[in-house]
Parts: sequence; structure tokens; C-alpha cells
Amino acid sequence: MRVFKFGGASVKDADGVRNVIKVLDKTGFSDLVIVVSAMGKTTNALENVVEVYLKKDNGFKKEIQNIEEYHNQIVEDLFENKQHPVFEKIKSLFLDMKTLLGRNKSTQHDFIYDQIVCYGELVSTTIISEYLNHRGYTNDWLDARDFIKTDSVYRDTEVNWSTTQQNIAQKTNKKGLSITQGFIGSDNNNFTTTLGREGSDYTAGIFAYCLNADSVSIWKDVPGVLNADPRVFNTTQLLSHISYEEAIELAFYGASVIHPKTIQPLQRKEIPLYVKSFLNPEGLGTSVKKGQPLDPHLPCYIVKKNQILLSLSSLDFSFIVEDNMSQIFSLFHEYQIKVGLIQNSAISFSVCLEDKFIHFDELLVKLKAKFRVTYNTNVSLFTIRHFTDEAIMSLEKDKDILLKQITRETYQMVSR
Ligand code: ADP
Ligand code: ASP
Ligand code: MG
Repeated sequence: MRVFKFGGASVKDADGVRNVIKVLDKTGFSDLVIVVSAMGKTTNALENVVEVYLKKDNGFKKEIQNIEEYHNQIVEDLFENKQHPVFEKIKSLFLDMKTLLGRNKSTQHDFIYDQIVCYGELVSTTIISEYLNHRGYTNDWLDARDFIKTDSVYRDTEVNWSTTQQNIAQKTNKKGLSITQGFIGSDNNNFTTTLGREGSDYTAGIFAYCLNADSVSIWKDVPGVLNADPRVFNTTQLLSHISYEEAIELAFYGASVIHPKTIQPLQRKEIPLYVKSFLNPEGLGTSVKKGQPLDPHLPCYIVKKNQILLSLSSLDFSFIVEDNMSQIFSLFHEYQIKVGLIQNSAISFSVCLEDKFIHFDELLVKLKAKFRVTYNTNVSLFTIRHFTDEAIMSLEKDKDILLKQITRETYQMVSR
């Protein structure tokens, strides 16, 4: 049994969907679960629908219409027979979404978000499953929400592993080809939940873990894991073999090619992960597995943009010690703030944060009651794993550096 994951970029248009078949022809497709994300930038567009809807602005209907038209064009391009049932299925998914918003009484942003944003994956998998069936690649469409059970922390949910494991072991078709959605699950009340942005890689990891899969392949628009994001750095090199440790560190520091939660379930069962180009399925790509060299012997550059550098110092010149620290971190947890880098001295504490859920202003009110607070928004956090002096020199050139930290393997720097 293998698990594949196709991300939004790989299925952004009809040619992308046709390319899935080209990949399957090269790799084979028996005993395979394919996890698919929303097409192109659909999740961003659906996030926007929710924002506009919650402002009680009827403009959300136009936004939905645009998303529906984008998908209709793809379906029109893929299916010559305009009577094919896929047309009705897509229409009815969009109708469900509109009905849901029409009837909704909740004002809970994160709850509504999950109930709506999931349609990106429901629609993409319906189109792809129908298209593969139409082309003779017979498959089952699985609703991931019947398998992946989670808590009810909408938008940032945690998986209930034991129930999920039972569901997947009992219900999946172990021999054939199945298509399911990345990113989504459901809670005990069967409301939809989401695993966090870019969470489809993680879905692939969850299915692989529960199926004791032989491998996971994630198909990307890059040749594999590179030593830097090619959108940011001009010269990059492929990391052809890396350890689970290296992969989890790179993903944690922000190498967005792999969702950071993907690695742990794979590492626990020693399931190999391949990161490959969907345009060159026979290329070398990157393999992440046991027994790889621990260090890629190459500086790896990671940048996280749109961070906040927050500094706290005590109001009465007292030390910032364990009890203040634990209070500060429980506030970070409460406001779903993600922490990237920490540095402290006797009376001050600095931390580089990501405010994914837009709760920073609420957090500030709490912190200001206890500490002197300064902060810079919109800073970048740069990390070099396996740094060299040259790598640091070239990165620091022309940068306005606010904070720096060097450990044995890792250099980190925050700049404006
Ligand atoms: P998906 O289509 O699966 O959602 P993503 O866009 O999330 O794919 O991930 C692929 C992108 O990750 C690449 O286009 C690349 O710009 C970016 N990326 C960031 N860091 C790296 C890295 N170290 N190696 C390769 N790609 C990287
Ligand atoms: N569609 C979701 C997102 O864009 C999940 C994913 O693509 O991995 O965040
Ligand atoms: Mg993605």
C-alpha cells in the first residue's frame, strides 16, 4: 500500500488533472490512496468568502460564484459529455455550501471557516475521482471526514489517533485505488474540522501511519526538497537523501515544502517519504528515510516572512524566570500564537512569533498588564541549518538585523 499526495499547484487546471494520470502511468496505481488538496488557490479564495460573509456583506455570493466558475471551466475542459454526472455533483456541492451559509446562525469565525473551507477539497477530489473513473482508472471516493476524527479546536485541530486508526483500518479498500481529501477531518459531532493551512501533507502522513503504508510520495512543483526556497534564493541544490531528523527540523523552521506535522507519524513507523516533481515523476527527488546521513553537508536556508518580534521586560526590574515564562507560554498557547525563536536575559525576554489566527492584539492587552512590551511587526526570521561563515556573511549583507542566535547546527536571525 502506498500513499500519494497531490497539492493545489499540481491540480490547478485541467492539464494538471490530466498530469495526475501521467504520473500514475509511470508509478502504477494498485493499492494506492491518493490525497488531494484544493485546486490552485481555492483555499485562499474560500477564506475570503468567510471573511466577507462574516462582515455581513453580500459580496460573498459573488466570491462563491467566481470559485464555482473556476471549477466549472476545469470540468468543461475535462469532460466532453456535458451530461456526465460530475456536472450535477459539483453544482450540488456549491449549492450545499450556499445553503449552509444561508441557514447558518453561528457567529464563531473558526467554526464557520472549517464548514466552508473544506469545500475546496470536496470539490477537487470529486472532479479528480470522476475524471479518473471516466478514463478507466477505477477508484473509490472516500470522505476523509469519515476516517480522520479530531477534537473541536476548529482551524487548528488535533487528531484523535485511536479512533482514526480504527476507522482507516476498517473501512478502506486495501487493494484498489482510493481518492480522498487532504486537510479535513471531523469532530465528535461530525462537524468538519481542518488540520491547519497546508495540512494535506499531514493527511497523507496520517493515512500512511494507519495503513502501515510502504511509502508516501508528495508531488510538488519543485524537484524535491532543496537547500532553499527557489522563490526566495537564486541558486539552490537538491537534498537527495535526508534523515527524518533533518526533514522535521527543516519543516519546523519553515521550509514550506513539507508540512511540519507530516514527518512524526512516518518516522514512528519508519515509512519512507519521497518528495518529487509532478512534472518529472521519474526524477531522483528527495527521499526521507531511516539510515540516511544525518547532515546534508550543505547550508540550508529557510525564511519565514510576516513574523512579529516581541520583547518583554519586567516592570519592576525583577528577573524573568520560570514562573513568568510559564505564564507567558500559556498565554501564547491560549491565543494560538506559534513561537519560532526565543532569547532571554535576566530582565528581558524576546521571542519571534507567528500570529496565524490574528489574536496578537488580544494577547498584547494581557501582556501589557504585566510586562513592559515592545514589538516589531512584519519582520523576517532567517534560519541556516549547517551554516558556514560564508553563508552567514552573504545572508547578512544589507540586512537590518534585530536579533541573532547561533547554536551548534543552526544560525537564526530576525531582520526588518
Ligand atoms: P503544494 O502544491 O503541495 O501545496 P507547496 O506550494 O505548499 O506545494 O510547496 C511547494 C513550494 O514550497 C515550492 O514551490 C517552493 O517554493 C516552496 N519551498 C519552500 N522551501 C523549499 C525547499 N527547501 N525546497 C523546495 N521547495 C521549497
Ligand atoms: N488546501 C489547504 C491549503 O491550501 C491544504 C493544503 O493545500 O495542504 O492550506
Ligand atoms: Mg500547499
